[in-house]
Amino acid sequence: MPRQNGSVSAETLAGPVRVHVLGAGPVGLLMTALLQATEGFSVHLYEKRRDYSRTRMVQLAPYLVADSVASYCTDYIDEESVAAIFDSREIDEGLAFRRSIPSDLMTLLRGWTQGFCPLNAIERSLSDLIDARHSRPVQRTLTAMTAEDAMTMLGPGDILIDCTGKNSLLRDRLVPGAGAEGDEANTFQIRLEYALVITFLYGQAYDCNEHCKYSKNLENAQYKFIPSVNRTCYDGSISHVTGIVHISAEDYERMPSRFDGHWLRDNFPHVAESMDRFIGKIKEETNGEIVGDLEIIRIPLDLYRARNATNREWRRTGADDHPFTHSPVFLVGDSAMGSPYFQSISLGFECAMFLAGLHAQRDLSLQDMLDRYERFTYQQWLRVYMRSKMIKHNKDLLECVGDTFALLDKLHIY
Ligand SMILES: Cc1cc2nc3c(=O)[nH]c(=O)nc-3n(C[C@H](O)[C@H](O)[C@H](O)COP(=O)(O)OP(=O)(O)OC[C@H]3O[C@@H](n4cnc5c(N)ncnc54)[C@H](O)[C@@H]3O)c2cc1C
Repeated sequence: MPRQNGSVSAETLAGPVRVHVLGAGPVGLLMTALLQATEGFSVHLYEKRRDYSRTRMVQLAPYLVADSVASYCTDYIDEESVAAIFDSREIDEGLAFRRSIPSDLMTLLRGWTQGFCPLNAIERSLSDLIDARHSRPVQRTLTAMTAEDAMTMLGPGDILIDCTGKNSLLRDRLVPGAGAEGDEANTFQIRLEYALVITFLYGQAYDCNEHCKYSKNLENAQYKFIPSVNRTCYDGSISHVTGIVHISAEDYERMPSRFDGHWLRDNFPHVAESMDRFIGKIKEETNGEIVGDLEIIRIPLDLYRARNATNREWRRTGADDHPFTHSPVFLVGDSAMGSPYFQSISLGFECAMFLAGLHAQRDLSLQDMLDRYERFTYQQWLRVYMRSKMIKHNKDLLECVGDTFALLDKLHIY
């Protein structure tokens, strides 16, 4: 039942509820597939892209399909953080919801935790699954939504879920008094560094490990290529290798957003030489060749979160004339938080599952739903923050191995 003012807390979701999901990237699609299968919701999905064209290889984290608290917590890097941040009862509740996920969807999720998969294959599979469920059709609209469109279409009792990614449509609109476009009123951000994300294909198996990051960069005093173990995979004939090279803010300004190895060689020969040395060492080990050219994008590596992942601030004001006072709004996926060193799709999927689990509890008050989602996203943020800072610190240390004093300067012990 919709509220009459901003102070009612016992209000629950009643009757058939319309849910508007903005953005059909991986997270918006999973959110849609989960709610589509839940009694009492009709889902409307909005997307501006006509096709799924992102081919980068990604892998989902095994905790997404965990069936016990112990397997949920198992993680090479932040096992202890998970145990410290999450209560085992909360994890259990999440596992119970996972067990209710329809088998068509669960089979897909299990597959994606087994090995690497192109991002657009995940998007297409989810999209096809949604379309194939004829008994509960999802209304899909191809449109570039504006924040104003989103507010206008909200009817009383509707739910709005923003899955529009890093440059979220609504994140900074979720707090009253947000100013002009570009005003990051609800965004907390730490710029970790500027980097080149360099991807190449290699015609042999390349088993990337932590030692490569050191040994293959021994002669690279600057511009070390740090491959991501989690994003380097062999598909049976080709290795897909992705890694980052730290660059300065000045370098960043002088580069286009996307370019290839030729441009790099002509304009930043020192970076190209570092890449040559790194790749040369892979070739020495495995006698392979690069297939095609380097694909390079330059990006700021930002760790960020929405200070409010729901419309709770609007509800607090009780301002009758604003749609976000009355209709629940949630940020899920990259629109809520992100880290360059975290498997962000898995994080987004985890939040989507949690939110769908809350929606399935029809006796839960709206206020509880908002509070619990805020708490959960904050816990996830703590995990992401701790892990990202640790990885950045380790990376900074690795970059000065061999220079003892530079290394000691970066070690803060006791
Ligand atoms: C180079 C690179 C490599 C990465 N590698 C990995 C990896 O290995 N593993 C991993 O887990 N993650 C990786 N990520 C991150 C991962 O791609 C994102 O976390 C993930 O795509 C986020 O999903 P999302 O659905 O939240 O947002 P997005 O994928 O950004 O999807 C948002 C969707 O909303 C749509 N949209 C946006 N605005 C509007 C609007 N106004 N109206 C309508 N539709 C709109 C967009 O078209 C898009 O389809 C990588 C990211 C980058 C940039």
